[in-house]
Parts: sequence; C-alpha cells; structure tokens
Amino acid sequence: MINFSDLAEKYQTPLYIYDFDTITQQYEMLKDAFKASKAILAYAIKSNSNLSVVQHLAKLGAGADCVSIGEVRRALLAGVPKYKIIYSGVGKQDTEIKEALESDILFINLESHAELERVEMIAQELNIVARISVRVNPNIDPKTHPYISTGLHGNKFGVDLNTAKRMYLKAKNSENLDPVGIHFHIGSQLTELEPIREAAVIVADLVRTLQAINIELKFFDVGGGLGVTYDDEVTIDPKEYSQAILGTLTGLDMTIMCEPGRFLTANAGYFLTRVMYEKQNDEKRFVIVDGAMNDLLRPSLYSAYHKIEAVDNDGETSPADIVGPVCESGDFFAKDREFPIFKHNDLLVVYSAGAYGFGMGSNYNTRGRSAEVAIEAGEDRLIRKRETFVDLVALEKEYMKSY
Ligand SMILES: *Cc1c(COP(=O)(O)O)cnc(C)c1O
Repeated sequence: MINFSDLAEKYQTPLYIYDFDTITQQYEMLKDAFKASKAILAYAIKSNSNLSVVQHLAKLGAGADCVSIGEVRRALLAGVPKYKIIYSGVGKQDTEIKEALESDILFINLESHAELERVEMIAQELNIVARISVRVNPNIDPKTHPYISTGLHGNKFGVDLNTAKRMYLKAKNSENLDPVGIHFHIGSQLTELEPIREAAVIVADLVRTLQAINIELKFFDVGGGLGVTYDDEVTIDPKEYSQAILGTLTGLDMTIMCEPGRFLTANAGYFLTRVMYEKQNDEKRFVIVDGAMNDLLRPSLYSAYHKIEAVDNDGETSPADIVGPVCESGDFFAKDREFPIFKHNDLLVVYSAGAYGFGMGSNYNTRGRSAEVAIEAGEDRLIRKRETFVDLVALEKEYMKSY
C-alpha cells in the first residue's frame, strides 16, 4: 500500500507518483507473452518520458519507440542501447533525420513517400545506408476514441498499401536505403483484439508480397496501443494478443517489435491533489483542487475518465465536479461524481495517471509543473523537481527591455 498522505506531506501537491514495481510487472507480463518468439518491446517514450522511468525500463531490457529526436536523445541518455531504438513520426525535420542516422539507431519509420526521398538524400550526403521501415495504414477502425485512432485513411498517419509497396521498391533499388522493417499502429487504448488481428493479417500479406520480389524484412512492428482499465474496461489479454499476432506470421521468420506505452505506465501512476475550497453555484457543487488541466490534461482533452478517491474522508457523499484553478471551463478532473464533503487540504488521489499525464502538461496560467516521485521496493525518491517561477521565466527574462 502506498501511503499517499505521507508522500503529499513530504513532496507537496500537486504531485505525480510512479510505482516502478508495477511498471516491472507490466513489462514482464508482456515480455512473457512473447517469450516463444524473437521480440523487442520498444517502450513508447511519449507515454511517460521521465528519464528515470525510461532508465528503469531500459534496465529491464526494453528498447524505445521515439516520436521526436528529443525522445531519441532521452532514450540514449537513459541507457537504451541504440540497436533497440526506433524513430517514428509523421513530420521529421532534416536535422532530426540527420541526427537519427548519425546515432545509428535500429531504424527510422517512414510515414510518406516524400519522407523516404528526404531520408535517402540525407543518407547520401552522409555516405551511409539508412535502415528504414514503412508505417502502413491498414485502414482499420480500432474502435477507440477518435483522437487516439490512427489506423484509418482519414488519419494523418502512415501510407496506404500501394504507396508502401512503391516505397519498398524504391528503397530496394537505392544504394542509401535498407528496408528492414514494416510497421503499423492503429490507435491507442485498444480494448478489442479483432482490429489488431485484421491489421496484422493485412500487413503480413504485404510482407509476403514483398518477399516474392526479394525484399526480405526482418522486423514486424505491431505498434502499441494495448488498452488499460481506467474504469471498468475489459482489456486485451497479453497472451491472446501475442497469439493473434504470431498467428498471422506463419511461414515468416521475423522479429516482432511491440511499442507499448500506456500498458506499461498508466496504472503505475497516481496524481495527488489537495482540496482548496468547496463551492456551490445554485444547485451545482464544485470542489476546487490545487491540480489542474496543465498538470493532467486527459479529462479536458478526451473527456477521459480517471478514478478519483478521497484519502481519509469517508463522509456522506453528494454529486460534485472536481475542478482546477485554471481559467478555462474545460479545466476539470471529474463531473457529477459522488464525493464526501471536503475540508480545506483534504487529499485526493487520481488513479491511472502514469501515461500521458505529466508529459502532456504545460505551464499554462504560469503554473510550474508538478514534481515526480518514484516508488521502488517500498522506497520513495524524487525523479523530477517541482518547477519554480524562476524556471518558468528563465528563457524570457533576459529579453525584456531595460528602461
Ligand atoms: C503513441 C504511440 C505508441 C504507444 O501507444 P500506447 O497507446 O501508449 O501503447 C506506440 N507507437 C507509436 C508509433 C505511437 O505513436
């Protein structure tokens, strides 16, 4: 049991807490599901990019799935071996491509024909061979929130099958490109297996087609997206997941890459916030807390549900909105949920806050971002300092006019 009161006292609120033992368990569960095959679990860094979190996963043997050169740098800094790092993203700048190639990471995931041409040009200038993979958009509805669906032709991600084929042909005939992998990632918070299986079937067929024209790919990258339980969602069993994917690869000898983010970090994370005030506007009850949308954006951005519990307060309940101090009506953590009547400084725990929490944070309303704390084997330690006002103005102050 995590002692939230002690941690809130020691580190102040708002506060992020990550239970590293939970991250380990999740990692081992997925690793175990793929143990019968060659597989690399490349942690999707964007879900929680704290260096200590990435370092913890690197120690467990994870690779890294990066979506910016900043994330590639984080992965390297945290000790992820370069041969387990991949780099995806719809819009990579020339300087990012150059640095990724010079870093000699496993491969770059291409998301358009135009990008293939840029990578070829840059590889030529560097006089090297760029290992590449193509992100295929299999046009499958993942049945998740539209903002986190990525595998439909209406989404900006990846290329259609015909374009992918053209890209592989071009790569095969290029002296500076080496096609080593194929990739798809149809969305996030997936709770149904069938769309993933369908996508894998389509992409595996393309692998066979390419094989017939002597393009031999080594890596079958199935993306991330495994859903977790925030409320009462029934999630995909990792073993069934691996079986479904392996079932589409009969006759192919490939290393599976899997890019879990949320699955590893979401339920390892807790966000602590204290009640400042209760207030009633006519019939409507508001609980105003010290955390806000700049700390945890998911409720505002996706109407995402996070379980919230009062610590040490089991009084009688009535419906309330839990809201932050930011000047936006969209600044809320919960709407019309039952909560006890609070006193000043009562503590709330927001669950499942380990993925897409801190990383989506901002300094909106000139609010410093929360501190982050790790718990491992019963010990807590700071892994990111709380931001101060000095941090917030550091990049602006010197540019003010002097009168
Ligand atoms: C975001 C992302 C992931 C991770 O998604 P989760 O839902 O957190 O598992 C994996 N791969 C790519 C390419 C992504 O953009």
